[in-house]
Parts: sequence; C-alpha cells; structure tokens
Amino acid sequence: MRYHTPKSFDEAAAIAAKADGKTRFLAGGTDVLVQLRAGMVTPDDLIDIKHIAGVSDIARTADGGWRIGVAVSGAELGRHAALCADWPGVIEGMNLVGSTQVQGRATLVGNLCNGSPAADSVPGLIAAGATVTVTGPKGSREVAVEAIPTGPGKTVLAAGEVISAVTLPARGTGGGDAYLRFIPRTEMDIAVVGAAVNLRVVGGRITEARVALGAVAPTVILVPEAAAAIIGTDLNDAALAALTAAAEAAAKPISDKRGTAAFRKEVVGVLARRAALIAFARAKGEAK
Ligand SMILES: Cc1cc2nc3c(=O)[nH]c(=O)nc-3n(C[C@H](O)[C@H](O)[C@H](O)COP(=O)(O)OP(=O)(O)OC[C@H]3O[C@@H](n4cnc5c(N)ncnc54)[C@H](O)[C@@H]3O)c2cc1C
Repeated sequence: MRYHTPKSFDEAAAIAAKADGKTRFLAGGTDVLVQLRAGMVTPDDLIDIKHIAGVSDIARTADGGWRIGVAVSGAELGRHAALCADWPGVIEGMNLVGSTQVQGRATLVGNLCNGSPAADSVPGLIAAGATVTVTGPKGSREVAVEAIPTGPGKTVLAAGEVISAVTLPARGTGGGDAYLRFIPRTEMDIAVVGAAVNLRVVGGRITEARVALGAVAPTVILVPEAAAAIIGTDLNDAALAALTAAAEAAAKPISDKRGTAAFRKEVVGVLARRAALIAFARAKGEAK
C-alpha cells in the first residue's frame, strides 16, 4: 500500500488519476480504517488529505453561507456556535454519527463518500441545498450533494476526483431545519430511517422547503413532492398529513434484520412530520 500526503487538491487529484488499483482518500478514517482492519478493502493508494492547507477551516462565504473544509470533524462542527445557529439540522445529523471518539475524526465528506443510504449527515446536507466542490484533473466543479451518491457504497466521482470543500447556502431570515433518525437504541447504531426538513417561514407561512429521506432507498433521496405538500401552508394538520403521505409514497425501502419495508415506510412519514414541526418552530424562533 502506498501512503500519500499531498499538499494541494490538484496534487491529490493527480495522484488519484495515476493510481490504477484500489484508491481511498483518508479524511477521518472512521470508515476507511475500519474497512482496512476488517480486511474488506485494502487500498493500493491511500491519499491522506489532511496535509492540505485550509482543510480544517470553517469560513463564511461572501454571500453569507459557509465553506467547510473536508477534514473538519463532527466535534468541531458541533462547537461552532454561529454555524449551529444557522444550520442546526445539518449539525445534529453529523453529531449523531458514532461516539465521542468517532466525532473527533469523522467528517461530512467521508460520511457522504462512504455512500451509505443511512449516512446520518447526508439528509440534512441535501435538505439544506448544500453543494460540494469536486476537484479533478480537468479542474473544479460545484455539485449538489444529492448528485454525489449513486447507490450503496457508490458515488458519481470519477477516478482522479476528490471533494475539496462543502458549501452551505446563506441561511437568510425565517429559516429552520431539523434531522431525525430512528434507531432501536439511543446511540451507536445505523439509522433504520432518517428524515431531514429545511424550510423558510414568511408571515406564518412556508415559502420554501426541501425534504430528504435516508435509509429508505439505495441512496438518500430528495423528495420534492413532500416539500410541495407544505409550501404555502402554515403547517396545519392537512399539510402534515399530505407531507406524511408524500414521504411514505417516495420511500422504496428494503426489508432486512433491522426493519421491514412496511415498518420503514410508516416510520419515514412519522419522522418527516416531526422534523417539519421542529424546523417550523426553529424558523419562527420558538426552538433551538
Ligand atoms: C463506531 C462507529 C460508529 C459509526 N456510527 C455512524 C452513525 O451513527 N452514522 C453514520 O452515518 N455513520 C457512522 N459511522 C461511519 C463513519 O464514522 C462516518 O461515515 C464518517 O462520517 C466517515 O467520515 P471519515 O472522515 O472518517 O471518512 P473516511 O473513513 O476517511 O472516508 C470514507 C470514504 O470517503 C472517501 N472520502 C473521504 N474524503 C473524501 C474526499 N475529500 N473526496 C472524495 N472522497 C473522500 C474515502 O475514500 C472513503 O471511501 C460509524 C463508524 C464507526 C467506526
């Protein structure tokens, strides 16, 4: 195994483009090193991206959004008061990942690129409208987070492409988001179902919304029908019922030892509804 410590994303991309065996990027290593030790994946080239300038930074963008470095851990995100105030749903998703020890290393981009449909930070990022910067041999492009995973363990990234930053849009006024997951115990488990809602409230009515669901399809899914069910409403009972029905209809889950398809379908509606109520309260300044 060749271990690389590039000093720039262009160099990281060039190393990855030349590699012809199994390649992995090393961010927090909480997936890569576990898979390596278990003998599941032994990379021929392991490209440690933590020696690149800026990867541990969290900075405001010119338009009031956030640019998050690809080595920023869940713990660092959770300690950033202004970021948590803007995007509590994104951060609560990431902060559900693993334990205190895992939080010290695990990153948003590692969670995304591991490609799990149950990844806890991904629904919140998608609901927020987050994008990632993909750097490759031909330069950089901005890609919506929902376009990155293509199936369990798979991403759209081509050989030689690395994600160099995560960008969250400006929060603006009257916004709120939330993420909820169901697990059969209180922590250290993988989501059986997850749901994130991001919305904006103007004059008591929802003017914008995005709803993303986890662990009910081969990838985390964005569900425009669920968002449409609550836009224009004051989140009354009829709107919540329509949201629940849209989330259930969009879910195409599998049955496995952690839950049946029927159970997941029912729970996803419940979680979408509850997440919408929390996001709505946050948007109105009635909850943190
Ligand atoms: C005990 C334990 C509990 C866990 N609990 C949860 C949980 O509750 N919920 C959950 O969602 N996950 C959980 N996980 C999984 C894991 O912690 C998360 O997926 C984590 O966010 C991965 O981030 P990382 O930085 O450690 O990724 P790494 O292991 O460094 O990388 C993961 C993948 O992403 C790729 N990658 C990393 N950075 C980049 C980049 N910049 N560009 C392109 N590709 C990149 C790597 O090649 C690799 O394929 C748990 C893991 C452990 C060990």
